[in-house]
Amino acid sequence: MGIGTYEAYVERLKKMKPNIYMNGKKHGRDEDFMRGGLYVIKQTYDCANDPKYEDVCTATSHLNGEKINRFTHIHQSKEDLLNKQRMTKLLCHRVGGCIQRCMGTDALNALSVVTYDCDEAVGTKYYDRFLKYLEFCQQNDLTCNCAQTDVKGVRGIRPHEQPDPDQYLRIVDVREDGIVVRGAKVCNSIAPYTDEIIALPTRFMGAKDAAYAVAFALPADWEGIKIMGLPGLQSKRVKLKAPVAEVGDVESLTIFDDVFVPNDRIFLNGLENPETVKFAGYLALMFAHFHRHSYTGCKAAVSEVLASQATLVADVNGILNKEHVQEKISHIIGTAELVFAAGEASAYKAVQFPNGSYVPDEILTNAGRRLAGSEIYNEYSILADLAGGLSASLPTEESYYDPETAELVAKYTKRNPEYSAEDAHRTFRMMENKLCSPFSGAEMVAGVHGGGSPIMETITMMSRYDLTPLKNIGKYLAGINDDIPRYERPTMTPRAMLDKFKKTEK
Ligand SMILES: Cc1cc2nc3c(=O)[nH]c(=O)nc-3n(C[C@H](O)[C@H](O)[C@H](O)COP(=O)(O)OP(=O)(O)OC[C@H]3O[C@@H](n4cnc5c(N)ncnc54)[C@H](O)[C@@H]3O)c2cc1C
Repeated sequence: MGIGTYEAYVERLKKMKPNIYMNGKKHGRDEDFMRGGLYVIKQTYDCANDPKYEDVCTATSHLNGEKINRFTHIHQSKEDLLNKQRMTKLLCHRVGGCIQRCMGTDALNALSVVTYDCDEAVGTKYYDRFLKYLEFCQQNDLTCNCAQTDVKGVRGIRPHEQPDPDQYLRIVDVREDGIVVRGAKVCNSIAPYTDEIIALPTRFMGAKDAAYAVAFALPADWEGIKIMGLPGLQSKRVKLKAPVAEVGDVESLTIFDDVFVPNDRIFLNGLENPETVKFAGYLALMFAHFHRHSYTGCKAAVSEVLASQATLVADVNGILNKEHVQEKISHIIGTAELVFAAGEASAYKAVQFPNGSYVPDEILTNAGRRLAGSEIYNEYSILADLAGGLSASLPTEESYYDPETAELVAKYTKRNPEYSAEDAHRTFRMMENKLCSPFSGAEMVAGVHGGGSPIMETITMMSRYDLTPLKNIGKYLAGINDDIPRYERPTMTPRAMLDKFKKTEK
């Protein structure tokens, strides 16, 4: 099949066992709290089926040459990486924010690279197993998520040192036909409406953390998986329908309560062979890397969405041509352009890995993601500034339709005469959604932490970047050295971590 439909996806969800826990009840996947998330995922199926968007939203499977949804594709070229970025941006524009399905794509891409490298180095048999799983995802156009972030207990100490050993997901039993895992993954986006949960390690693991070096994939309603859901709520609309008000999500704390994982779903098991343990960190980093590259598409789109809303509300307020407004909007546009450009440049510098995948440059990817994260609250601040206080004190929607108040409310919330009272209302209702809803609050935090806390990008860059050439420039300029060696930074990728292992072994 290769490209699925939204209808088939919803049918699959309806058949899943209820395992979503909220407000003291166990829920299935056919309830209203999922509406916003389903609306977002719908775009990923609809656009792949729309000839207008197939150039970016579909791809050719390297497994069988079939046309597939790009969300299940393994990047085979620089063009693929660029198209993923373009697809992410296009879809994020349509939903006014996160497209929510990229975590699964990034997890599949990371597994493709790392299972191959692990087999090559250690002699395991993960890659063939992974390819079978990938084919299953591609054939059925499955939505996958990624459960990477462990709850982590006491920060600053290793998994095996934790007072409670379950603070990182771990293997508690090894059987002939599989393993049993226990632990929990936090901030687990779309777990309540994904087909598959892909669990990956969150950090480097040492020899004593072998039981924590584990990666696998399971259907989201698998026995023992308990999803503690938190819906991203929007301000309710009565009459004034608009795309911005349709979107939402459900985050979760996903608990693995002694869950059996069959052998064909295991992609890393540190207890099988101690040599595999070091691949946990490599896998964690590879996922983060692909994910941060996805961010150079989505965060550029998020900034453009905020700039679009800032432009509209400034126009409705009659201030669009004022100098300070232009300066503020240009600041957001500038960030969007730089973040996207960092992703494009890192795709152009991408290198092919032994499994055939293309992996983008690490320095540019992280520089782009870090800029996006550090600007996100500033961008919301600009939007709040230009919108004025009405976004936080708008009369309820009903007041616009109540015969007693309708005319008065319309009159006193209308501004630039070029916009009708209804369009002014629509604009400020959108501001309420974007600035004042619990969902927008979660989006802001996601802008900071998604893909790793801000310090993680700095750590990744500085662990890879060779400062010697910079020092040489300084020495030349200071007159310490007579000349400087010509310097062009080479492409850097997480493979440096693997090469470091090899050096350590020698
Ligand atoms: C809306 C949202 C959606 C998300 N979706 C997903 C998802 O789908 N899948 C997924 O796997 N993850 C997801 N994440 C998780 C995200 O990757 C994490 O939030 C991020 O990696 C930070 O981890 P944390 O939340 O545990 O924060 P912490 O690690 O607790 O960080 C809090 C602060 O402590 C600092 N800190 C932490 N440890 C140390 C240390 N040892 N030494 C010094 N300082 C330290 C950090 O730098 C930071 O400043 C999502 C996050 C959000 C907000």
